[in-house]
Amino acid sequence: MAQYTSKELMEMEHHYGAHNYHPLEVVISKAEGIWVEDPEGKRYMDMLSAYSAVNQGHRHPRIIQALKDQADVLTLTSRAFFNDRWPLFAKKLAEVTGKEMILPMNTGAEAVETAIKTMRKWGYLVKGVEQDKAEIIVFEENFHGRTVTIVSFSVDPDAKDNYGPYTPGFVVVPYDDLDAVEKAVNKNTVGILVEPIQGEAGVRVPTGGFLNGLEAIAREHNLLLAMDEVQTGFCRTGKTFAFQHEGINPDIIIMGKALGGGVLPVSAIAADKEVLGVFKPGTHGSTFGGNPLACSVAMAAIDVLVDEKLADRAAELGAYFMEGLRAIKSPKIKEVRGKGLLIGVVLNESAGKARIYTTALKDRGLLCKETHSWIIRFAPPLVITREEVDAALKIIAEVLA
Ligand SMILES: *Cc1c(COP(=O)(O)O)cnc(C)c1O
Repeated sequence: MAQYTSKELMEMEHHYGAHNYHPLEVVISKAEGIWVEDPEGKRYMDMLSAYSAVNQGHRHPRIIQALKDQADVLTLTSRAFFNDRWPLFAKKLAEVTGKEMILPMNTGAEAVETAIKTMRKWGYLVKGVEQDKAEIIVFEENFHGRTVTIVSFSVDPDAKDNYGPYTPGFVVVPYDDLDAVEKAVNKNTVGILVEPIQGEAGVRVPTGGFLNGLEAIAREHNLLLAMDEVQTGFCRTGKTFAFQHEGINPDIIIMGKALGGGVLPVSAIAADKEVLGVFKPGTHGSTFGGNPLACSVAMAAIDVLVDEKLADRAAELGAYFMEGLRAIKSPKIKEVRGKGLLIGVVLNESAGKARIYTTALKDRGLLCKETHSWIIRFAPPLVITREEVDAALKIIAEVLA
């Protein structure tokens, strides 16, 4: 099948594909576990995991088997009818999240939109906010997806500029600043939408107690707390969900990425009946949401995380990886931060652009991506071994020394 060279494929993409990404110059044509391969047969260690969508490793055998088995019997019904997979997936995800109900969608952005709709509807129907006045508190440097409504409250000009008119109803406050949140609350506030760690912002880990504080504000003012776990969820940070590090109980859990096991787009939100009960037939939906193929894949994706204890593995190897990174003595490195296997290396200005280093790492067989121009994110599949972390550290030390 691979009749094109990497160079030809990159040229073809550049010619025919819209230029809405700036990929590193590597073409991936095969993958297994933490390893990927280009058409010329060169192997690379994947340290991005498709932005944490491949936590279980590429093509995990159990997930691929579930895909094949389900493809042989039933793939898509739409929700016009019941199917025999969606109820089982809903039950499993309800158990994993500790919530009473699940609403399935496909992409992370759709799940975030669903959470926004839920908070607004709840605000009008349950809290009694005046029609069309609902406000949701969000945070500077947020990343929640690419829809018009979501980019309406982005502070990143690349994500936002020239997409107006923007959706109103969002109040942006500094991340990790509880006073600012408290000040932003008024009688029209219906909820808070937050990432427990800001991944795209460069793995910004808030001060301990920030999430606790948000929960307290939400309880005090009768607001819904919606936690965007699309990137941090499913064991990436060393717990099933990152908010569990602070032992809180958000009202809405937003999930995507690794829920699809690196195979299909699968997203969902979880909440209790008094919240998700605001939806009645016809008020929200998705043709592909809850499709049997996605449900079977997602159930296998969850089983792999649980059975292989990938949360514990992420906690242990994440600490080990970060310790190793901090031991690299280099004037280029300003800070190493993160939780579990979601790690950001912040470079000093004098080091130049992060792209120089992600390119050099790629040339030595390690794939990762810069976020902003001065932060390198390391987020390997959680099935990585200690020996493979050691091998990665050796390459990183060579490139950053
Ligand atoms: C990736 C991401 C999204 C959007 O998910 P898509 O599947 O790309 O739409 C939303 N929130 C966070 C925190 C993400 O990292």
